[in-house]
Parts: sequence; structure tokens; C-alpha cells
Amino acid sequence: MVSRVIPVDDFDLVIFGGTGDLARRKILPGLFRRFQAGQMPESARIIGAARSDLDSTGYRKDVANALKEFLPETARPKGDVKAFLKQIEYIAIDATGDGGWKELSSLLRDDIVRAFYFSVAPSLFGALAERLHGYQCSGPACRIVVEKPFGRDLESARALNKTLRDHFDESQIYRIDHYLGKETVQYLMAVRFGNVLFEPLWNAQYIDHVQITVAESVGVNGRGAYYDRSGAMRDMVQNHLMQLLCLIAMEPPSRFDPDAVRDEKLKVIRALESPEPSDIVRGQYVSASEGESYLDQVEDPSSRTESFIALKLRVSNWRWAGVPFYLRTGKRLKARHSEIAVVFKDAPHSIFGQALGRHRNVLAIRLQPNEGMDLLVTIKEPGPGGMRLVDVPLDMTFADALGPEGDDVPDAYERLIMDVIRGDQTLFMRGDEVEAAWAWTDPLIKGWKDRGDKPATYDVGSTGPEDAAVMLHSEGRRWRDIAS
Ligand code: NAP
Repeated sequence: MVSRVIPVDDFDLVIFGGTGDLARRKILPGLFRRFQAGQMPESARIIGAARSDLDSTGYRKDVANALKEFLPETARPKGDVKAFLKQIEYIAIDATGDGGWKELSSLLRDDIVRAFYFSVAPSLFGALAERLHGYQCSGPACRIVVEKPFGRDLESARALNKTLRDHFDESQIYRIDHYLGKETVQYLMAVRFGNVLFEPLWNAQYIDHVQITVAESVGVNGRGAYYDRSGAMRDMVQNHLMQLLCLIAMEPPSRFDPDAVRDEKLKVIRALESPEPSDIVRGQYVSASEGESYLDQVEDPSSRTESFIALKLRVSNWRWAGVPFYLRTGKRLKARHSEIAVVFKDAPHSIFGQALGRHRNVLAIRLQPNEGMDLLVTIKEPGPGGMRLVDVPLDMTFADALGPEGDDVPDAYERLIMDVIRGDQTLFMRGDEVEAAWAWTDPLIKGWKDRGDKPATYDVGSTGPEDAAVMLHSEGRRWRDIAS
């Protein structure tokens, strides 16, 4: 299969926080890969911006080191790196002061796309937006990219949106949720809306339930202080899992257009019922090894912040009446494993009788690792010995199905940054979506705080607290395995 890489228009991309962790780990390696793919015009420039006292030569060395650190040697031939670095500049700038702004303004070219990536703490967003405007760096062809967290509750999200909208139109604001940039997520939309096979079955009549799992094997590591102020609900559910749920549950948009898609996602968030306390399981990981438990790794030894959460949710509309959506996410679980599983109902009548067991179709969309989809179908187990049924996957691992290109699935950041340059907001969250998600989240967090709920414990390397398993068992269902 021949790849069709469509080069983007010429651009100046300024990365505020160009020396930071996110820029070094994701943004710059992502841009390098797009450069290698031939998607970046030769005249395009990437301008790192931070307070560090560097010049462009010094920054290029820093970028080369970042590529070395975060890309395997085979993925960065010397010639490619050298050519890429020619497109890199640096400007020393202080978001909260006036140093560097005039220089930036005169460096930027007119009549091409200007994108400003805010890869800095959210507390600096206001100062950046104000100065971009004040120093005439912004303009109608300019875009800003902002990273999560988009607030920590409805009030702060509204304040953040207002700060950004004071200087930029909503059509210029790109809020990144890298889960939406995953190739599989777009395959999901193609599978749902590009085939006649699934959509007729995509409703309460045929779907028993949906499971969304985002399991991490790592703990809070050095981010304990930050994480403990947020927890799994704020860090993962309000944004990433909610977005995945929206893509599964939304109605077909009239066209694949940013606002049409985002309008449909917003309707799902607004249709989400608030779960009862019994439909929420929160947990903290514990370990027999010293220093390995959650409470050892955060500042407050009596913290009640959850490192795991499971929820049973309902989307209150005609399509999904009575269909539970089970969401779970947590740290220090058995494996790093993210998937969406759509579990279909039993066949209405089994001609094979009960003795052959229960067999259900499952469409499993793997987000990581090994992006792809499985459709579990029931067939006869081969061989003599009578009728025996077995569920086998119709496997759509991209690496297998699409040849070498399937193996070379672009990282979410690569795709999303190119979408910014192209001016395509489909895979970015709109301000009203973010606010609606917080409006749903806030009362739940307030609820467990007011009740003084304590998270259950779960062992490091397990699948989460026992109560999360019970939540499904009590309804005759079970979680899918968290596979390594
Ligand atoms: P970081 O490693 O602390 O980097 C912060 C960057 O901001 C540095 O380049 C720093 O450079 C620059 N900076 C700080 N104060 C500045 C100022 N007054 N003016 C100009 N530049 C300034 O942070 P990060 O991990 O890259 O995260 C950046 C943002 O992305 C944060 O909002 C974070 O929540 C979000 N995020 C990060 C990740 C991740 O994986 N790292 C994932 C999701 C979201 P100087 O010190 O040289 O100024």
C-alpha cells in the first residue's frame, strides 16, 4: 500500500516551553518524524522559546540530544537529523516579562500559518496570550495549542477558556487530548461510519455493554505531588476516557467536520447520567515493598486521592437506554493496556443449547500497545468430536493488515500537530465540551469528599480493587483481561 503524505502549507511553529519535557519527549520527535515523512515544507520553521539563555545553535544541540534520547538510532539517520535541525530556531523569552517579544515578533513571517504551542504550565497561558496579542504576533492565520489540564474543575476551566478567548477566537484554540490523535480512534470512526455492517447493530437492542479500560503499569513516580491534587478522575476520566466514550456513543455527525463531530460529542456528555455512589469504585495501590505504595509516593500520608477508578455510567438517550458503559483506569495495574470493548448481546436463541456455553461477539479496539481491532466471532472448533464452539478474533492488527505502513502508525502528537497546521480542529476539544465534562465531574468529586469516602486498596500488579470486579460480577458480567 502506498502512503499518501500530503505536505502541509508553510508555517512558523513556536514552541513555548521548547526546552521542557513534553517538547523534548513528544513534540520535537513527532515533528522530526513528519519531516522525515516529507510532510514539512523545507521553508517551515520550528522556533523553540523558553527563558533558558540559549541561541539557535545551542538549542539545535538540545534538540539533537532529545531525538537521541527519545528515538531509536535506526529511526534517526544523521543526514535526516542534520537537515531537520536547519529548520530549527530559538528565541529566549519570558512569558511573564517583556524580554524577547520584540525579537519574536520580527522573526515571524507574514502570510503563512503561525502556530503557538503552549507547552508550559497553565498558569502562564494568560501571560502568553496577552503578549502574543500585545506584540502583534497573533493574527487571523494564527493558532494556539494548549495542553491538559484544562482546569481542575468547572470554575477554573471557565476562567481558562475566558483567558484564551479574550485574545483568540475559539476557531484558533486547539486543546490537545492525545487519545483523540491515536490512529485507532480514527479507525473506530471509519469502522462505525464507513461501513453498513456495524451501525445497524450499534444500539441498545444489540449491545449488552461497553468497557473502556486505560490501565497503566507505572505509578505516580516523581509526579506524586501533582497527581495527588488531581487523581484518576481528574487526570484521566474527565478528559481521555470521556472522549473515548463520546466517540462510541455519539450519533453519526452529518459530515466529518470539526463542529459537526464536536456537537455530537457534546450531546453525549450532556446525556450522561450522574452515577450512584454504588456505581463508583475508587482505589489506591499498595505494595509490601517499602516506598512502593501510593501513600509512600505522595506528600500527604492520609491522602484519599484515587490512583484507580471504575465507574458504571449510563447515557440517557434512546440509542443507549439500559446499556451500561463501564470505565476503569488506574496506575500500577497488571499491564499497560488500553482498549475499548463493545460487547454484543447473546444470540436471541441458541440452537446449540446451553451446554456449549455462552458466546458473545466483541469488538475490541486496542489503543495501546499494538494498536488495532479484534472482532470476536463464534465458530465451530475444528476437528471431529461433535459441535464445539469457540470465539476467535478476526484480527485487524494494523501492522499485519496494512504492511509496513501499518507498523509505522504515526504517534498521536505527530498527527495532531499536522492537524493544527492544516487548521483541522476535528480531533481537538472545544471549550464547551471541556466545560460540560467538568460540570458532570465536579458533583461526583464533591459527593465522595462530602461523604468522606476512603478509596479501597489494591495490590500493585493486580487488576484493581475487588469491588471493581464485583461491580460487574453482580450483574453477570466480567471485565476483560488486562493483557500484558
Ligand atoms: P517542564 O518540563 O517543566 O517544562 C516547562 C517549560 O516551560 C520549560 O521549557 C521552561 O523553560 C518553560 N518555562 C517555564 N517558565 C517560563 C516562562 N516564564 N517563560 C517562558 N518559558 C517558561 O513541563 P512539561 O512537562 O514539558 O509540561 C508542559 C505543559 O504540558 C504543562 O502544562 C503540562 O501540564 C503539560 N503536559 C505535559 C505532559 C508531559 O508528558 N510532560 C503531558 C501532558 C501535558 P525555561 O525554564 O528555560 O524557561
